[in-house]
Amino acid sequence: MEYQLSFIDRIERTATAMSLRFRRPPGLDFTAGQYMLVTLNPGLVHPLSLSDDPGEKGFVEFTKRMTGSRFCRHLLSLAPGDGITVRGPMGRFVGDGGEKYLVFIAGGIGITPIRSIMKSLVRSRGNLERVILLYGNTNPADIAFRREIEDLDIPSFRVVHVLADPGGESGHYQGFINGEIIAAELTDIHEAIFMVSGPPVMVAAVEKALLALGVGGDRIRTDIFLGY
Ligand SMILES: Cc1cc2nc3c(=O)[nH]c(=O)nc-3n(C[C@H](O)[C@H](O)[C@H](O)COP(=O)(O)OP(=O)(O)OC[C@H]3O[C@@H](n4cnc5c(N)ncnc54)[C@H](O)[C@@H]3O)c2cc1C
Repeated sequence: MEYQLSFIDRIERTATAMSLRFRRPPGLDFTAGQYMLVTLNPGLVHPLSLSDDPGEKGFVEFTKRMTGSRFCRHLLSLAPGDGITVRGPMGRFVGDGGEKYLVFIAGGIGITPIRSIMKSLVRSRGNLERVILLYGNTNPADIAFRREIEDLDIPSFRVVHVLADPGGESGHYQGFINGEIIAAELTDIHEAIFMVSGPPVMVAAVEKALLALGVGGDRIRTDIFLGY
């Protein structure tokens, strides 16, 4: 389905991550974790994940890593009431409602579909007993939605930060998310469903590490942010 969306406002999440909100038209329904094809003008099209809770009726939100590209410059030039075209929703990076133990692994802006799923879990927990987020970022200032995510009211939920440069903050892993960190942080690894989202290199490395730890491929769901 194609929809015209009217721009409401933008929210700076970090120095390089910007949320953009648009009025939600009647009929635009989605499942947390899905994305849409966003067309700013002919030839300026990117897939973007819906970053907020589908239960939010007043608006839909996308959160873009601001790279200085033509697409980003156009996003920055939007004024309230300006229109864009979106197609979708699309994608199967979604929960099935039956999970008991979910492990999210996000690389940077790959947090967007995971944030949407986690916010929806606050409303509707299904059978969930345990949720863990391994969240990789460059440094503390780069962690989008940090406080909000750390405060989510989900049963037995915790966040593990992995930072290339912890910048003096203690209590985090330094480096990139890898098999050692996953093995150290998770118990009952074979019972977990893994949802991994981020740039292609990150997703490939994490998937390889999970398979090496003996996790079955049918327990790994991925969302690959082509373009990074
Ligand atoms: C399913 C999905 C969900 C995504 N969700 C988000 C999101 O929530 N937030 C976010 O910031 N980004 C998301 N992305 C990535 C986004 O679509 C852009 O590709 C990325 O943001 C780069 O765009 P840019 O305007 O910053 O840079 P650009 O200058 O447009 O792109 C950088 C380079 O990547 C290439 N490229 C761009 N897009 C693609 C593509 N789709 N496939 C292959 N090559 C490409 C360009 O040719 C260029 O060489 C998602 C991607 C996918 C596939």
